[in-house]
Amino acid sequence: MEIRCTQCGAAVEVAPDVRLLACPHCDTALVVDGSQVLFREAMRPTVDPAEAPAHLRRFLAGTRTVAGLDREARIGEPEMVWFPFWAFTVAGEGGEQVELMPAAPSSLQGLQGLELPAGSTQKMTPELERFGRIVEPEVPVETARTWLEERHGGEAPVRRTVLYHLPLYQLTYTWRGRDYRAAVDAVTGRVFPAEYPAKAEAPYMLVLVLALVVFGLEGLVVSNLLLKLALYLLSVPPILGVAWLVSRKV
Ligand SMILES: [Zn+2]
Repeated sequence: MEIRCTQCGAAVEVAPDVRLLACPHCDTALVVDGSQVLFREAMRPTVDPAEAPAHLRRFLAGTRTVAGLDREARIGEPEMVWFPFWAFTVAGEGGEQVELMPAAPSSLQGLQGLELPAGSTQKMTPELERFGRIVEPEVPVETARTWLEERHGGEAPVRRTVLYHLPLYQLTYTWRGRDYRAAVDAVTGRVFPAEYPAKAEAPYMLVLVLALVVFGLEGLVVSNLLLKLALYLLSVPPILGVAWLVSRKV
């Protein structure tokens, strides 16, 4: 199969199964997707591998995960990969912005519709393989474009499309005998979890129901307005106490 280099226009012969290549004439990194030939770039990592577990631990200490997860989880060694994203430069009302759509399948949450992180890009060369595995794009650019249009609710005028390799630290952590996965963006430190031990909502609903029942009964039983107010005020601390206990345990 013959393609034309997007940079210098040279005709380049490539095997049918080759998708990632560098132009032998001008050394520009390219990606072949169907009939299209597009530029390929890499973001420069700014987060040190040694800092990656601390970023994950902050996420594990957050409000979406079970209590104590940050202290109890055993986090493994980070492994860097160059994860591919189709980067669409979209013309909007406030000027142009770059939106990323994952170009490879992943169980990580939050990869769709990322904005291009502020940071510098670097030339995509095979030497980057020394720092981490280069993940090949598997999602066709047309599919990613469909996702983009869905996000925009219709038209999304794309000015430029590039394949970006974003450096991600992949991490595994163990909690109560189970393994979980997450990734830390090596440019921003942002965490993309796969499935994680989430905080259960049921106990909070019970606290809410308890509060409604207590206030409701007080309202029914007592008719004197001042007494009613006093009772309400008295029942707030125990309910807050129960809520606090639940947040500690769940
Ligand atoms: Zn070229």
